[in-house]
Amino acid sequence: MIQPIAKKDIRKLSLQELEVFFVAMGDKKFRAKQVYDWLWNKSLKNFAEMSNISKATREMLEKHFVINHIKVDQIQRSSDGTIKNAVKLFDGNIVESVLIPTPKRITACVSSQVGCSLDCNFCATARLKRMRNLNPDEIFDQVVTIMEEAKLYHGRPLTNIVFMGMGEPLLNYANVLSAIEKITSADGLGLSPKRITVSTVGVCKMITKLADDDVKFNLAVSLHSAINETRSRLMPINNSNPVEDLAESLRYWYAKTKRRVTYEYVIWEGINDDEVHANALAKFCKIIPSKVNLIQYNPIDDGEFQQADPEKVAMYMRVLEGQGIVAKVRKSRGQDIDAACGQLANKNDIHPMLDND
Ligand code: SAH
Repeated sequence: MIQPIAKKDIRKLSLQELEVFFVAMGDKKFRAKQVYDWLWNKSLKNFAEMSNISKATREMLEKHFVINHIKVDQIQRSSDGTIKNAVKLFDGNIVESVLIPTPKRITACVSSQVGCSLDCNFCATARLKRMRNLNPDEIFDQVVTIMEEAKLYHGRPLTNIVFMGMGEPLLNYANVLSAIEKITSADGLGLSPKRITVSTVGVCKMITKLADDDVKFNLAVSLHSAINETRSRLMPINNSNPVEDLAESLRYWYAKTKRRVTYEYVIWEGINDDEVHANALAKFCKIIPSKVNLIQYNPIDDGEFQQADPEKVAMYMRVLEGQGIVAKVRKSRGQDIDAACGQLANKNDIHPMLDND
């Protein structure tokens, strides 16, 4: 029996590969650029809408390829204007992405993996095992979707992108960089890399690689403690990537890029809410130019972790500011729809595969 040939995802092809394809099909080389433009610059979801391509060519493309565009499965809107999308991927997996509006900005928070392989004790996404990495186009599509929603629901464009959704971006390095390339290039969305922040749990080897690759976007590190013992308790990654190694990779990052790093830091009651931890953070912040975002803890059900007392947060601010460190207390957004940091966990039972875990 003849097996039907599986159609290829057209967005896996580079412009050069598309050119080779069109020439092989007896068409003009420039046709590739036209199609590429529809795919990446105008983010079309189907071939039929490619209006400057002949019907015969569109049908030929249809025969060989698919466009695996993500589908928004569910939208939830918070009372604070935050929007959470559960997006379905071509294989049925679901990831979440979030639109966060402020008076000056609209930020897209995107996922880089289905689930997560890191076991940070305080994070809901960690409860989902890592299923797979997202492809560049799946990351790109999350941005396009939020861009459309920004205009539709808020009447203004998307301004910033943070890789702070599900997954660890630096463990899906090539695809994340490829997505950012499409998001920033003139052929794609043309957004400035200065408006993009990639957040990592602190994978030292990959921070060094980012520096070597001379990336132009911003780096954030989820620190949560500058003391090994505490950090290892919170984030097992610290066993293999301890604070000293993290410091070393950040020194390397700064030497190469000359760009300051942002530290994300939650203060938990009885865990890191004392002056010893605050002083250790202040010391860590002096290693390279940096700033601190003190983020509010978003409860994830089990009650093991509690947000520290406001007085303790104020103590941290005094210690940090007293030593000339830039720090801000960040309010949580979208908590009512489980869209805040660390709450993304496909909670709405719309994911059959993850339900079976
Ligand atoms: N894996 C990357 C990207 C995820 S970013 C990273 O760890 O940086 C998500 C951010 O939310 C991280 O800073 C993470 O530490 C933080 N976070 C996780 N769970 C949280 C929770 N329950 N409350 C507040 N912040 C949380």
